[in-house]
Amino acid sequence: MELTPMMQQYQATKQQHPDEILFFRLGDFYEMFFEDAELAARELGLTLTSRSGNKDKAPMCGVPYHAAESYINKLIHKGYKVAIAEQIGDPKAKGLTKREVIKIVTPGTVLSESVLTDAANNYIALLYEQGERILLAGADISTGECFYGIYTGGSRLQTLFDELYRRQVSELLLAGELSFRKQLDAFVGLRLPQCTYTQLAGISAQVEDRLVEHFTADERPEDRAAQEAVATLLDYLHDTVMTDLSHISHLTYLDASENLVLDTYTLRNLEVTRNLRDGGKKDTLLDVLDFTETAMGSRLLKQWLEAPLLSIVAIDRRLDAVQEMVEDFGLRGALADGLKDIRDFERLLTRIEVGTANARDLVALKLSLACLPGIRETLADVRAQLLRETTERVMTFDEVTELLARAIVDEPGISLREGGIIKDGYDAELDEYRRIAHDSKSMLQEIEEREKQETGIKSLKIGYNKVFGYYIEVRNSGADLVPDRYIRKQTLANAERYITEELKAFETKILGAQEKIIQIEYRLFTEVRERIKQELPGIQQTAHAIAVLDVLRSFAEAAVSYNYVRPQLRPEGGISIKDGRHPLVERILTRDLFVPNDTELNHRDCEIMLITGPNMAGKSTYMRQVALLALMAQVGSFLPAREAVLSPVDRIFTRIGASDDLVSGQSTFMVEMNEVAQILKYATRDSLVILDEIGRGTSTFDGMSIARAVVEYIEKKIHAQTLFATHYHELTEMADDKIKNFCVAVKERGAQVAFLRRIVPGAADKSYGIHVARLAGLPKTVTKRAEALLAALEAKQEKVQAAETDGREETAAPPTQIDAALGMGSLFGSTLREALCSLDIMTMTPLEALNELYRLQEQA
Ligand code: ADP
Repeated sequence: MELTPMMQQYQATKQQHPDEILFFRLGDFYEMFFEDAELAARELGLTLTSRSGNKDKAPMCGVPYHAAESYINKLIHKGYKVAIAEQIGDPKAKGLTKREVIKIVTPGTVLSESVLTDAANNYIALLYEQGERILLAGADISTGECFYGIYTGGSRLQTLFDELYRRQVSELLLAGELSFRKQLDAFVGLRLPQCTYTQLAGISAQVEDRLVEHFTADERPEDRAAQEAVATLLDYLHDTVMTDLSHISHLTYLDASENLVLDTYTLRNLEVTRNLRDGGKKDTLLDVLDFTETAMGSRLLKQWLEAPLLSIVAIDRRLDAVQEMVEDFGLRGALADGLKDIRDFERLLTRIEVGTANARDLVALKLSLACLPGIRETLADVRAQLLRETTERVMTFDEVTELLARAIVDEPGISLREGGIIKDGYDAELDEYRRIAHDSKSMLQEIEEREKQETGIKSLKIGYNKVFGYYIEVRNSGADLVPDRYIRKQTLANAERYITEELKAFETKILGAQEKIIQIEYRLFTEVRERIKQELPGIQQTAHAIAVLDVLRSFAEAAVSYNYVRPQLRPEGGISIKDGRHPLVERILTRDLFVPNDTELNHRDCEIMLITGPNMAGKSTYMRQVALLALMAQVGSFLPAREAVLSPVDRIFTRIGASDDLVSGQSTFMVEMNEVAQILKYATRDSLVILDEIGRGTSTFDGMSIARAVVEYIEKKIHAQTLFATHYHELTEMADDKIKNFCVAVKERGAQVAFLRRIVPGAADKSYGIHVARLAGLPKTVTKRAEALLAALEAKQEKVQAAETDGREETAAPPTQIDAALGMGSLFGSTLREALCSLDIMTMTPLEALNELYRLQEQA
């Protein structure tokens, strides 16, 4: 089959990019062929046509070049990669136009503004395994951030996955084979469904060069494998973006020992930055605390919340800064004003660096830079050390700001190829051409006037025709006054036409002016852009300092708006909170309705709070509140409480609520046990552990036994500060010098019950399941019958208890098998009661409830 030369060129290009959808530039369109065309037609809803490129017509579809970005973005969003082949050289030249792939767009390297969201980074990460170690290298090329981590030991996979989850990586590169590929697939499928994979052939061949090219000596990793991982990632970025990437100039090592570890479960369960509902920001801690003015600030706030600090010194530095702004209303307001007009210049810088910045980006940069002197001035007299140091890092760029103000018009168009970018007065040559273009008529008049006066020929006039261009026409009556410099061009019956040097030059100018204007403007624009590039490192540093100031101010704003207090951090002493509130629930409920609660958790007299109480009493709200407050304190935020003294925790573990892991094919119970296993394995004396209703997914006795054994293990082996909610009343008997019972206070008036939402010492004596069932709308006949049954059961239990006490005086009654297994000495009656109490009535259908009652009756 004979291919046309163009199709041959296509095939050759496509062969080099088998994994990408090839956008092949043909005139004003990007065309796709064959499978790419079919796929794009399907995914983008384009019409599939065909081109007679060969005997069998090639399926084809296309998009206009000026609208290509939105189509490319759609494909990226769906996880595809797109290679862009452009026409290189003069399209009017003879023969086949040269075409080359000029960049590849992938989910992890996209720079288009419409794909990136302000509030989140867009990460690409590479995984590389070497023996027992896993290496991670990652970057966000839209901001220039680059990092690496080394994972070893038994929990290395978990820690790695936590990192990938925290960063919501959108593209994963696999360098070589991975022994944990199956687990990775399962994790990505569940937690990072948007993420695309790329298998790389191997490791970079130019490790040293790559690292030297991007990073200073002290930032380069010493570890060889880490070097290889980072260099391989950089190779991929260079091959993909195909432009200068020198804005990637800092490399950070992810050192887990510096931060409080928040694993995937905990980040999810506590809804720190993403809600459980749809993964969005609404109703998250981030949402409540986000008073940032800039996109950089909002991204940094997210990062801080996901990586709280461990060092009291570091935390106090932040708290001092926040406090100063809390106390200084004027400072807070002035800083907010200063930050308001600052655009996302981290990302602006990247576009400048890779050369995609347009004139509007430069205007945005100008406006942002112009805010900096004001911010420095606002912060001139700050006292907090962190504020002072951060202010120091805010540089001003007077020269560049002035250049931008002088060079770039205030409201330029988007296109760089249509002119209208550069201000008048910036460049004499440009001004001249503009004057020519705009004022050609009046300039001709000017010339005409001048010529008339100089020569004294009254009839002289300037005209234009296609053959000679501009000319000066002199009637025969003035012929003898014509000066020598006039060059005769045409003789008419009663007049002569001349040209002059000046007129010729003018003509060339006018005709080429428009074209020239665009050329000059583009050249000047790129010169300005290059000039800014020289300041890049300083601007980058400033951008980060701005982000820090913005987050600190945001904490202060939240503290003032919601009436938060500064926590006191102590090396020892546990968690002591007076009138603590749940930062999210109190916002939803409005303050008056939310009931504050105290917490006293420490290694001295209350290591484990065992909280019993009915469903809906407020147990899990309380436990999340304690975890969130510990987290907030270690981030450097003030807390919703009247008073708070805390010692930093090394990890927060949570096992709360329903899991959505059902998609992974594991049973709820299995997932729950997995999570508990992780906690028991990795929790330390310094951890905070939140366990809500564990053992729920299995039979009552199983569940109760497991719950009890877990509490015992934590008490005896781990000594972690723990909050444990349960509806198993049997567990309340575990109370001792470390384990303390708490319950949610309840007010009963006749059959009506009100939960007071107050956590008080002591064990709950009733489960109020029937009450909740009534609230949930179970038919009256059912709840009435349940009450009767419960009364009967309780009466019977009392009888059994009495009998047993009697019996014990003679021969001890043999415990039931289950009682023996539990070792709890519970009685037949209480197990029945327990079975009844443990019913999850909220989730049962009336029919299930009836069946269950029937079964219980049988047992009794
Ligand atoms: P449980 O875990 O005991 O089943 P939850 O913690 O889910 O109960 O709380 C049930 C409801 O009570 C929540 O919807 C919440 O809005 C409300 N609630 C919880 N704690 C408080 C509180 N301290 N003040 C006011 N309302 C609360």
